[in-house]
Amino acid sequence: MLSKVFREFLFKNRAQAQNKLSACEGLFPGGNVVKPEFGCLGITDECMLRCKMCYKWQPDIFISEKDVNSYPSVDQYRKFLNELRELVDKEFVLNFGGGEALLFEHIYEVIKIGSEYGFRTNLNSNGFLIDEQVARRLADAGLENIKLSLDSVDSKIHDHMRGVKGVHERVLKAIDNLHKFAPKIRVALISVIYEQTYRDFIPLIEWINNNEKIEHVLVMVAMQPNNTPEEKNWWNGKYEFLWPKDKKAVGRLIDELIEMKNKRYKINNSAAQLKAVKKYLEYPEKFVKKTTCNMDKAVHVSSIGQLFLCFNYGILGDIRNGDDLRKIWVSDKAQQVREKIKRCKKNCHFLINCFFEEDKIPSNLQNL
Ligand code: SF4
Ligand code: SF4
Repeated sequence: MLSKVFREFLFKNRAQAQNKLSACEGLFPGGNVVKPEFGCLGITDECMLRCKMCYKWQPDIFISEKDVNSYPSVDQYRKFLNELRELVDKEFVLNFGGGEALLFEHIYEVIKIGSEYGFRTNLNSNGFLIDEQVARRLADAGLENIKLSLDSVDSKIHDHMRGVKGVHERVLKAIDNLHKFAPKIRVALISVIYEQTYRDFIPLIEWINNNEKIEHVLVMVAMQPNNTPEEKNWWNGKYEFLWPKDKKAVGRLIDELIEMKNKRYKINNSAAQLKAVKKYLEYPEKFVKKTTCNMDKAVHVSSIGQLFLCFNYGILGDIRNGDDLRKIWVSDKAQQVREKIKRCKKNCHFLINCFFEEDKIPSNLQNL
């Protein structure tokens, strides 16, 4: 149900609103507003690790030198979250990402505001900083879920991928600390299939499945490293060391994961997402979906407050300037981006790993 304020905003000038409605095919199908379904605050770009598959720790290629560390204030986040609250369903999950989100000095305050506004909250973290005090502070802020990265049961492999010795041990301690000092926070893992990790993936899933402190695992797959200029066919270039070479072996792994999922292992991906991962590993150049990318329903905020749907198609506003998300969401500019999103055929991280949505093909077109 739309709030009174938002309804008034939309219908203040009825003629204008009608034009907007008809111009926004897809945004208001059948007269209903399509609401944001995925939200992520990339709250900082800083990170203390030196991962082989992510260069967030190097100067950001999208953010100019003068803007670095020009973070929104807590009040600006509060205003943004207030506007977002009006657009979304009760169950909407607010994701905090990075960089390492725990390096943002006001992270606890922003999580707390999110919780107080009734959002479900999730924080992604490399686990490095989660000692007793951090676990308690996250619990006090009302955090509901946390996802920690763990790519291997073998500490040498995980530490090698993360570029810092001892990270594996710190993740295991983080799981214990959260279990002990923040028992209401649900702890999940994110594990990524790389050339270096796929061989030990089943033992990792078994270990997770038998660990009562872990709610589930979300399986992800290798992408071109974050914060690198886009390279066509990256899996054949500079970053091919991440790409699993043995297609048959990795295909069997995905089949096994689907079987495990069917046997109720704690794998959070849908079977459709795992099938898309398999297709991607076999034919990375072919778009994994039959329909379109679903990022038209995403709200992203960069570390410096820029608002966008997809990072690839431009900035729509800036919470540091007080831009109103409710206006941006229905703006012509946002709709132009949605048109581009509909045509985009990139197998990117957001599409496959972060916010995968199964194709919904009308039954009369399914066999075409
Ligand atoms: S993957 Fe995560 S932990 Fe690694 S450098 Fe990037 S932000 Fe940091
Ligand atoms: S598939 Fe294209 S539109 Fe969708 S998130 Fe990726 S780059 Fe953006």
